[in-house]
Amino acid sequence: TPGVRPLIAGNWKMHGSLAETASLAGAVREGAAKAGAAELLVCPPFPYIHLVAGQGGLAVGGQDCHAAAKGAHTGDVAAAMLKDIGASYVILGHSERRADHAESDRAVRAKAEAALAAGLTPIVCVGESEAQRLAGEAEPVVTGQLDGSLPDGFAQAGGVVAYEPVWAIGTGRTPTEPDIAAIHAAIRANLAKRFGAAGQGLRILYGGSVKPGNAKAILALPHVDGALVGGASLVAADFVAIAAAA
Ligand code: PEP
Repeated sequence: TPGVRPLIAGNWKMHGSLAETASLAGAVREGAAKAGAAELLVCPPFPYIHLVAGQGGLAVGGQDCHAAAKGAHTGDVAAAMLKDIGASYVILGHSERRADHAESDRAVRAKAEAALAAGLTPIVCVGESEAQRLAGEAEPVVTGQLDGSLPDGFAQAGGVVAYEPVWAIGTGRTPTEPDIAAIHAAIRANLAKRFGAAGQGLRILYGGSVKPGNAKAILALPHVDGALVGGASLVAADFVAIAAAA
């Protein structure tokens, strides 16, 4: 999208030891100079966020947060805590959380509201299953998830949408370029309809088996304003190469 700085986000999921995470973050930071104009973000597991945050050159995010500001929620993490240790983003509604923790659109929306209240930028994930894609329902599924998951303050706060077809995550498979472009156009139309001019400038990331080899073609598609990268973000050289393609 013209005038929009691409965002290349690494989702490190539940990978890495303390030592591996420190070394990966260091390698990404060293490579960042080669990454060109794109903004680089990494989302480590909660215990390692503080290790990676606050050293410059790299934005840091959480992979989830709770909808409440604080309270009796054993094992959960508040958005303000993430902000406090140096995170500026939080991934919400990733398909693995929607599947593993039965997170509904409504739950994701409540979390996004908490993120906004804490001053974090939410990255809200949406995407169809393979069965939905095969049934020709990808577009209505995705726009329905947007309607249910995005809070009203989303655009004003510069929220990010990540389109991640569930069947493309970690599988090495991706939709065709026209299919990616079609969904991104539908997401843009949905954001513009709901949020007006503010929706035109929001970043829409593609996620699902992005690699150095396919990044350039995907990132060149209209309304693809960056990538959310899982597996390839665990290899610093690959992650930086994807950023350089943006
Ligand atoms: C993800 O889980 O956000 C993701 C895009 O994973 P991968 O790049 O490994 O498909």
